[in-house]
Amino acid sequence: MKVLLVFAHPEPRSLNGALRDVAIRELQAQGHEVRVTDLYADNWKSEIDRADFPSLETEPPFQPSRASKAAFAAGVLTDDVKSEHEKLLWADTLILQFPLWWYTMPAILKGWVDRVYAYGFAYGVGEHSDAHWGDRFGEGTFKGKRAMLIVTTGGWQEHYSARGVNGPIDDLLFPINHGILYYPGYDVLPPFVAYRVDRIDEAGFEDLAERLRTRMRTLSTTPPIPYRRQNGGDYLIPSLELRPGLGKPTATGFSLHLEGSETAG
Ligand code: FAD
Repeated sequence: MKVLLVFAHPEPRSLNGALRDVAIRELQAQGHEVRVTDLYADNWKSEIDRADFPSLETEPPFQPSRASKAAFAAGVLTDDVKSEHEKLLWADTLILQFPLWWYTMPAILKGWVDRVYAYGFAYGVGEHSDAHWGDRFGEGTFKGKRAMLIVTTGGWQEHYSARGVNGPIDDLLFPINHGILYYPGYDVLPPFVAYRVDRIDEAGFEDLAERLRTRMRTLSTTPPIPYRRQNGGDYLIPSLELRPGLGKPTATGFSLHLEGSETAG
């Protein structure tokens, strides 16, 4: 396999840095090729602005998605973004690794998504009509590839359980797993989450490292999260609401978008 790991932590000697090295070593031991985008080390520019589109006319108001579409089609995106496109197309597996900061990814990683996910590359792909609302949520540029998150949290596992005060971890990560990874076509594996890591000791670290090695060994065989396909018949088009009869009638929330949610829980 060809694995791209996008790493978002400012300190290489952090726990995240140590876990990244564990993951890379295990993947390489399994014979996989690994490339890394280290966002802080690369001094990644996280805000999308006019400077991303040097060929843009200065006169009209700046519209990021319109500028993105034109620059992608003309092949004039900036070199840092083009380089990430090359890596994403090369990889058959994408790993995003980050500490949970304010219930989501660090801003630098969100900025990677904002700038790298160009119009025509990660969105605005495929036929867009009343019969087919674009190639997305199960289709798109990354169809057939796999993706997963490696996340560390200060909070306990219980804080992120079904009744935990933080909300369930699958709900918190849904906008990333479903909105950022599934949207452009990745099969999304369940995340690797390391909870309560702030005061972890050597034994705790070894446990964590072993769990992570196991996940790296099973990257190609772990079943993905069974999200429903947008264009697979489960959604009405163009409202994109789940068809009547699918999901429990009283159910709301993210779990509706899992296949088989009519029978779950
Ligand atoms: P580090 O601080 O580098 O290390 C954590 C512990 O692991 C330390 O005790 C360290 O000694 C030990 N360690 C490091 N490397 C090794 C090694 N090689 N071997 C053995 N032990 C090691 N948490 C939440 O749950 N929810 C939030 O919303 C949230 N928001 C946050 C927002 C911000 C801005 C910040 C700074 C933190 C937030 N946190 C939150 C906490 C955060 O998620 C954790 O601090 C982070 O996940 C810890 O990962 P790290 O790599 O930074 O750990």
